[in-house]
Amino acid sequence: MSALPTLLNLLFAAVVLFVAPSLAYQPLSDTQLKAIPAPLNSDFDIKTGALLAPILIPRVPGTPGQAKVQKHFVDFFSRELPEWDISWQNSTATTPLSGKKQIPFQNLIFRREPPWTKERGPGRAALLTLVAHYDSKISPEGFIGATDSAAPCAVLMHVARTVEGYLKKVYEKGVSGELGKEGREDPKREVGVQILLLDGEEAFKEWTDTDSLYGARSLSEEWENTPYPALSRFANPIRQIDLFVLLDLLGSADPGVPSYFQTTHWAYKNMATVEARMRALGLLESKPKDPFLPEAGKLKEHFGRAYVGDDHQPFMAKGAPVLHMIPTPFPHVWHKIEDDGEHLDLPTVRDWARIVTAFTIEYLEATTGEAGAAGGGKEGKGEDAAAAAAKQGTTDGEEKAGEGAGKGP
Ligand SMILES: [Zn+2]
Repeated sequence: MSALPTLLNLLFAAVVLFVAPSLAYQPLSDTQLKAIPAPLNSDFDIKTGALLAPILIPRVPGTPGQAKVQKHFVDFFSRELPEWDISWQNSTATTPLSGKKQIPFQNLIFRREPPWTKERGPGRAALLTLVAHYDSKISPEGFIGATDSAAPCAVLMHVARTVEGYLKKVYEKGVSGELGKEGREDPKREVGVQILLLDGEEAFKEWTDTDSLYGARSLSEEWENTPYPALSRFANPIRQIDLFVLLDLLGSADPGVPSYFQTTHWAYKNMATVEARMRALGLLESKPKDPFLPEAGKLKEHFGRAYVGDDHQPFMAKGAPVLHMIPTPFPHVWHKIEDDGEHLDLPTVRDWARIVTAFTIEYLEATTGEAGAAGGGKEGKGEDAAAAAAKQGTTDGEEKAGEGAGKGP
């Protein structure tokens, strides 16, 4: 009879782990915020920037531009971030303009998880999931989509490279501390990060349920139907998404990103706190009239059910918690030929890179307690406790699906 209790215990443990919040969210101290490497102008120059410039081309699915930017992303991760796993998720579909021709949609997934969860097999690590779409709209002809979403893709590349500098130390320390050994499992240390660069977000003709979100629909469906082995911590890759942070239409001056979802308002507040603290410390370049994230104080009763249609929808419908980083109103260049490199506000782009990087480091608790990297400063402690409490109540995968608002971006 000894096998039965063991099995039950394991099942119980799996259930408990599934509903437990993955991390408490650890604010950085002022010293730590100041120490985060800043984005380089040479990465974000619109003509020569190593990260940004190669994305500022038309990149419509099924065209050579699509292949060029894919190569840019894959080359970057293979060359600079060899610890990150690269995978593709491919599908094809006809579009209202393609007739019977199948158009390829190719999502890219870049994943970094602790060595000790990787060792135990798939479905162990909760994943902070940072997302942007890399395709560009087919019209008007020559459309670049600098805010939509070339700049967000470049921001995520910067985030990945900067955060890796922290994760490497944390993961090395974890391994030497025998976190990977049997009997030392700790869900608080089973957290990683993945970046999704999605294809086919844009409509070819007119935004409808079937003419839009080609990549996101395919990936979310595949993930929902790819169960992990029994007794994994998570049932499938959708469940593994700790928080789905979608960046879209970012790069124009004076963005105002509302808090769209009450269930992830705890994360919004953390991001807004990062922005406010970095501004107060003089770490941001832009001088907006209002904060990028002005709704940290939004009251419960002010959350409606409207949201902006975008790549998060199919994931949200399947239970992923979503933080949608898209300004309302949209940039004035939205879906116009003027949404090009020249119309980007680069201080704003670089500030987004700074804010999302700091948020990610805090989220992953990617500090080692080494010089200048002690646990969060005392100015952050109250927020930490509040965030942890708020998060506890929101990661159980309920909520979802409001009434979709009008057009997607
Ligand atoms: Zn768009």
